Amino acid sequence: MMNGPFDLIVIGGGVNGAGIARDAQGRGARVLLLEARDLASGTSSASTKLVHGGLRYLEYYEFALVREALGEREVLWGIAPHIVRPLRFVLPWMKHLRPRWMLRLGLFLYDHIGGRKRLPDADTLRLDRHPAGVPLKPGFAWGFEYSDGWVDDARLVALNALDAAERGAEVRTRTPVTAARRARENGDDLWVVETADGTFRGRALVNAAGPGADAVAQLTGEELPYKLRLVRGSHIVVPKLFDHPYAYIFQLPDTRICFAIPYERDFTLIGTTDADHHGSLTEVHASAEEIAYLCEAVNRYFVKQVTPADVVWSYAGVRPLADDGSGKPEAATRGYRLPLSDPADGAPLLTVEGGKITSYRHLSEEAVDELAKRLPALSGPAWTAHSALPGGDFPIDGQPALIARLRADYPFLSEVDATRIIRAYGTRAARWLGAAKGWDDLGRSFGAGLSEAEIRYLTKVEWARSAEDVLWRRSKLGLHMSEAERAGVEAFLS
Ligand SMILES: Cc1cc2nc3c(=O)[nH]c(=O)nc-3n(C[C@H](O)[C@H](O)[C@H](O)COP(=O)(O)OP(=O)(O)OC[C@H]3O[C@@H](n4cnc5c(N)ncnc54)[C@H](O)[C@@H]3O)c2cc1C
Repeated sequence: MMNGPFDLIVIGGGVNGAGIARDAQGRGARVLLLEARDLASGTSSASTKLVHGGLRYLEYYEFALVREALGEREVLWGIAPHIVRPLRFVLPWMKHLRPRWMLRLGLFLYDHIGGRKRLPDADTLRLDRHPAGVPLKPGFAWGFEYSDGWVDDARLVALNALDAAERGAEVRTRTPVTAARRARENGDDLWVVETADGTFRGRALVNAAGPGADAVAQLTGEELPYKLRLVRGSHIVVPKLFDHPYAYIFQLPDTRICFAIPYERDFTLIGTTDADHHGSLTEVHASAEEIAYLCEAVNRYFVKQVTPADVVWSYAGVRPLADDGSGKPEAATRGYRLPLSDPADGAPLLTVEGGKITSYRHLSEEAVDELAKRLPALSGPAWTAHSALPGGDFPIDGQPALIARLRADYPFLSEVDATRIIRAYGTRAARWLGAAKGWDDLGRSFGAGLSEAEIRYLTKVEWARSAEDVLWRRSKLGLHMSEAERAGVEAFLS
């Protein structure tokens, strides 16, 4: 362990904390990232997993926000082409809801305000002649299609933390911060941060605790500069409702929208809801009403009907939104604020309020730019827009070639296994596959293609500790396993 204070201590290993830690470490600071539980165990593994501008935020005139997020789609695809990929959305047109001219105008703006280079244009669609029309109820003759992106949100966090660590940052998971205070020691203004693992000192502090930012502000004896609005969103996963690669965006009569997305090969992911959240931040679940609402939402569109009994998995997360005084939770801004403490208060404190997975890199860059005004160690230029995340150092259209090469190197892997592995580890797959000639060489098999070698890699390199870390965050293999198989992983890791 190093001597002397860190330059920067970041509280919160969600996408924003990990992104800021990576950016700051790469600009020359010595960074400590402290996460109370597992990386991405908060909101950052509970998103809809879209790298998107947010078509519906155009309705709230959030042009600057949409423009920034649209621009980030291709940036993130470029730096992480293993875990990010383009996704084509189909929007069936429904009489009595938004008029066709409005949707056309919205999609025209969506196509043109965000600096799109590689993603294909939006288009109108005859649903009676398109594969996406097949699973829909009769009567949907017209629709639109447009481009956005998909990301493995939890892996995005782990890979940002990994890159930060490989550049020299110290990353500590399962290390809740219990207190933090400013001090002046040997002529330096510092933050003194207490955890069960010990006391750490830093020249600056970032509160990136997401929905927990208010509680962390209280630990520092400060108030949040702006109020947070906590809005819960739930998702359900059901056996697949369609067999093509398009995702759907459905308009609902209450003016909300709902996504139905091809998920993990065998499933459909449906979400999300928006409800003000007041309860625990560590035990956040989809309520029975939310599950019923989501079933009802897709049942308006698909021939195949779903009931809560079909739900194989559900998850919920709490959006930490910068409170802009909006009435409905879905109308609250998805923008962010990065207030920095007054120099007269002593060592700097920057707080992250709001944001999206999509804008995490840009947010991190802005946060580090702000901190650089007060922290001389942050001397380097912005760098994250063009620097690949671990395993992402291959061309954005290079996934098929990488999968084919992996299968040539490891002929015992099926197409399904190889695709899953490349979409998780990219060019780093061989780091745990090693010189294996068959499954037996990878140690014990736990089911669904999970081997002892992969678990050992995840615990050694990616901070995984529990079965939940491995089965529901570093991967989603839990979905493909029986209860007995999941119990096997649990027993192995405990
Ligand atoms: C339902 C839903 C759907 C969404 N869909 C999308 C989407 O499709 N696309 C998109 O771009 N965005 C989406 N978002 C938004 C996005 O998920 C969030 O903005 C983002 O994940 C917030 O990340 P964060 O790092 O700020 O917070 P978090 O991920 O919550 O991270 C904060 C971390 O701080 C830790 N922490 C808290 N207190 C302490 C402490 N005392 N000590 C140490 N650590 C602490 C927590 O354990 C947690 O891991 C969605 C959000 C929700 C809820």
